[in-house]
Amino acid sequence: MVDLEVRGVSKRYGETLALDRVDLRVERGETVALLGPSGCGKSTLLAVVAGLEPHDGTIRWRGRDLAGTPPESRRFGVVFQDYALFPHLNVFENVAFGLRVRRTPAARLRERAAEVLSLVGLDHLRSRDVTTLSGGERQRVALARALAPEPRLLMLDEPLAALDRNLRDRLAEDLGAILSELDLPAIYVTHDVEEALAVADRVAVMEPRRIARTGTPEAIYREPGSEYVARFLGLDNLVPARWERAGGRTVLRTKLGALPADALPPPAGGQEAALLLRPNGISILEHAAGGRAAPASSAGRWVLHGELTGRSFRGAAQRVQVTVRGVDLRFRVAADQTLPPPGSAVTCTIDPRRGACLIPRRPTGPISERPI
Ligand code: ADP
Repeated sequence: MVDLEVRGVSKRYGETLALDRVDLRVERGETVALLGPSGCGKSTLLAVVAGLEPHDGTIRWRGRDLAGTPPESRRFGVVFQDYALFPHLNVFENVAFGLRVRRTPAARLRERAAEVLSLVGLDHLRSRDVTTLSGGERQRVALARALAPEPRLLMLDEPLAALDRNLRDRLAEDLGAILSELDLPAIYVTHDVEEALAVADRVAVMEPRRIARTGTPEAIYREPGSEYVARFLGLDNLVPARWERAGGRTVLRTKLGALPADALPPPAGGQEAALLLRPNGISILEHAAGGRAAPASSAGRWVLHGELTGRSFRGAAQRVQVTVRGVDLRFRVAADQTLPPPGSAVTCTIDPRRGACLIPRRPTGPISERPI
């Protein structure tokens, strides 16, 4: 069941095209993360959905066109990056603000404000001056304030961007839990990949002006669909590859050598592709027995010979760089794996079904929402 449907939305600010035929759906109760670099149009899309900016294309709520519905009648709540709390009001009064504006009866106002304060875990701070709160607490007040008037859609614009990394990770998980408990559809704008993955049921990755790929976090990692999306997700082992069939077998011609490709589905849209090697797709990394040999395969696995050219310890894992025929590849291996010193010859073994995928070289257009 679709709650919000954005179809063919374009927005121009003078000479700048900020959105170009954007399609997006938010289904009942789901949180969609709008993930993309700064300036790609995320805030503009929120402003358009909120009814704050004129635009081309349609926005529907449960099938009904919102063109004639002013922002205050849409019942969409917004949480901003800077929280926009009222400094002269305490926590309770900030949360109750929207209810007072709507002339909510006093008893219902107290009940509802207490309800949302409890939901975000702030009952004990109800009388506190908001200027004395930590960043994380302010963010929760902002969330409670947006929730108090019972919006039918919640929009969060970089709500954690002002916080430091550790707090952000923890709050992203808390926020994700609150949003799924509420069964309230939400659009969560962020430029941070990990935050998007922590809160979202589905992620819409934006490139400038348009949505490049929409899917569950697992699906977009499994199949990024374009080099842009892969790189944005941090999947940057991308090697140009040509897919060829010869004598009933398929092979990938790459700078790494010719790799048997029977285990991989052919690339969509032609023979030219980018071969993506997943960062955690190496199953063994060890000293090569001899010098550099041509790539070979063994029991369906690819065997690449190269040189260990970098290594850094990252707590839970080690990052390694292996250079194979002049191509630098970066992987993650277990923290406790013993590695030879940098400069050593190594052999990498990759199971192509788990550790590789093919991405069309020149996508014909954005991979956007599929019809339901
Ligand atoms: P994001 O939220 O992804 O950082 P924005 O939606 O803020 O991106 O901006 C998208 C593009 O539209 C940018 O090129 C930005 O400069 C432009 N833009 C945004 N708001 C305005 C405005 N009010 N007037 C002119 N250009 C704008």
